[in-house]
Amino acid sequence: MIKIEDIVRPNILNLQPYSSAREEYTGKEGVFLDANENPYGELNRYPDPYQKALKQKIAALKNVDSKNIFVGNGSDEIIDLTYRIFCNPGVDKALTFTPTYGMYEVSAGIHNIALLKITLADTFQIDLEQLKPLLKENRVKLIFICSPNNPTGNLMNNSDIEFILKNFNGIVFIDEAYIDFAKEESLIRLISQYNNLIVSQTFSKAWGLAAARVGLAFANEEIIALFNKVKPPYNVSQLNQNAALNALNKPQIYKENIKTILKEKERLLAALTQIKRIKKIYPSDANFLLLEVENADFIYNELVAQQIIIRNRNKQVDNCIRVTIGTPEENNKLIMALKNLR
Ligand SMILES: *Cc1c(COP(=O)(O)O)cnc(C)c1O
Repeated sequence: MIKIEDIVRPNILNLQPYSSAREEYTGKEGVFLDANENPYGELNRYPDPYQKALKQKIAALKNVDSKNIFVGNGSDEIIDLTYRIFCNPGVDKALTFTPTYGMYEVSAGIHNIALLKITLADTFQIDLEQLKPLLKENRVKLIFICSPNNPTGNLMNNSDIEFILKNFNGIVFIDEAYIDFAKEESLIRLISQYNNLIVSQTFSKAWGLAAARVGLAFANEEIIALFNKVKPPYNVSQLNQNAALNALNKPQIYKENIKTILKEKERLLAALTQIKRIKKIYPSDANFLLLEVENADFIYNELVAQQIIIRNRNKQVDNCIRVTIGTPEENNKLIMALKNLR
């Protein structure tokens, strides 16, 4: 157990948060003349600042208490708020394992926080020996672990994650954007055991709601209270909350889509194995594949010319491209195009 207070920025600890009209009076019925809203229209009222209905559904689904959930305007907002809460600009540091999701670094840059990077080992796992000396550096406040990792696709070893949770006196942020596609369970179950753990998930991938911008954080009540303190009062619009609620009311569609995507992943994998230009296909616990090819820049350009857009990750992993699993038709187009390369 760490003392959360000790690692929160003093100005955040002392902050008096904005109290919105919808917080002072939480009843549903009444004559609402408190928020300077327009009395006419369909989206005229401010949304629930704490997204109670949405959290209730998520709590039931994830088997946690509503009090352990924070909803953000995408997980990118959650990453941003985490820096705001724990990292003093120009003073504190964060750490991550590369190659990984780019937002940890962009957000660090926005907040003027140095981001230390440890290169993932051979199988894209965490190199604990390199990490150990940095765990005790007292200006490192945050460690970002993406699992399954983007762009490599692999889950990180649970034993390594638990080692970090036990031996780091700062916040461990586990980004589980792709966990619904993975063969292993979420680490949300560990939030009751480690008070320095934040697990983030999103509606952007497996739930098919990237346009709606709904991200989730799971943590102990103390951290959730800090998120609530620093967030913009109405950070998740009513339209976005409704989109997530509607998706949660149709879990069958979510399950079917995941099944189809995973089946397509296997089919794509088998087809790509036959293509000579592809040298290696990395194991994936996500809805994408990382492929090592002969010449990533060339293949990227050839595909774009045919309006097939993939992600060129050559700058992160030598000669690698990342392809998202699409519909059967889209995947067929990709397979054909790769087969017919000049
Ligand atoms: C796609 C992705 C997200 C999703 O971010 P949102 O802001 O919720 O859309 C988060 N983390 C990683 C690693 C991702 O690849």
